[in-house]
Amino acid sequence: MPQTDRINRRVLLASRPHGLPSLQDFRLDEAPLPEPGEGQVLLRTLYLSLDPYMRNLMNAEGARYAPAVAVGAPMVGGTVSRVLTSRHPDFRVDELVLGNAGWQDYALSDGSDLSPLGDMAQPSLALSALGMTAFTAYVGLLDIGQPQAGETVVVGAATGAVGAVVGQLAKLKGARVVGIAGGADKCRLAVEQLGYDACLDRHAPQLAARLAAACPRGIDVYFESVGGVVLDAVLPLLNDHARVPVCGVIAHYNDDAPATGRDHRPELLSTVLQRRIRMQGFVILDHYAARYAEFRHEMGEWLASGQVKAREDVVDGLERAPEAFIGLLEGRNAGKLVVRVAGG
Ligand code: NDP
Repeated sequence: MPQTDRINRRVLLASRPHGLPSLQDFRLDEAPLPEPGEGQVLLRTLYLSLDPYMRNLMNAEGARYAPAVAVGAPMVGGTVSRVLTSRHPDFRVDELVLGNAGWQDYALSDGSDLSPLGDMAQPSLALSALGMTAFTAYVGLLDIGQPQAGETVVVGAATGAVGAVVGQLAKLKGARVVGIAGGADKCRLAVEQLGYDACLDRHAPQLAARLAAACPRGIDVYFESVGGVVLDAVLPLLNDHARVPVCGVIAHYNDDAPATGRDHRPELLSTVLQRRIRMQGFVILDHYAARYAEFRHEMGEWLASGQVKAREDVVDGLERAPEAFIGLLEGRNAGKLVVRVAGG
């Protein structure tokens, strides 16, 4: 059933997943439209962002940067919404806003989490190439990775929301850019549409040997979004003074228990030490005050000039959010995964 103006469809967390979430971990429910109180606005969701961090918030522990979603509560998420009713002096009816309405058709806000978007021909860009994921690529690569012309940059999840932007920005800075992605089709897309110099399929055999062949001068910047076997392949190739922005470890988000088997810690720490590597984790929420305005300006220009291309994977219908989110954790998306909840 599509969005209506009478019922608030909500996707609730039905149970905490073990490993990869299943459709049974979500429940589509219907509630009456909420009524805004004094100082509140009623929002109608147009676009919902689906992001890997949501997997962490499905666990009872949540994450350091955000609390867990309660079982029975709507899933949380960034959204582009229209103001339907306003009892807030700073927001007018019909205004387009960026906020956190979550996986539902309608939500209330007191305005503290809303940013007006003005008129946008393509509002979903506020979640993709002008949004949190592209900003993550910008801060992680340019501030922490600091690629120099001629250096080699390696990007995991190379065609994903963050990765697709990292790859293009690294090319803009004159680096040789090697991506790692899940499957031959994604690798073709990486080279033909995103400008990667090479891209390796992480599912094909002998990733480490293929990566070594693709990086004959070693690796100067590894943009870490993945961990697991991708990190194993990268580690021996890191050059002296390499930079490793640690953005995410998606290969481990579905882990239920600590890994068993070979202990990788000595190899990791010896490499960091002997190669004088700068490895820095970052959470993008920390960087809005200092860096967002410049990102918005520069990225706006790069998009307008065609130097960076926005890549979105748009799914239609709130009811398809669970299946699309599971697909993201399985590597089925290419580009920023966005749910179109309602038209204009
Ligand atoms: P993506 O659009 O890149 O989607 C996730 C991709 O990860 C999948 O398409 C898949 O690509 C890859 N993937 C999934 N499972 C595995 C696995 N087991 N092993 C290796 N790769 C896997 O998501 P985002 O761009 O939004 O996020 C990328 C990373 O950045 C995540 O780790 C996320 O948590 C992190 N992030 C961190 C932020 C921060 O503030 N530090 C902010 C935003 C994101 P493929 O199959 O092609 O490899």
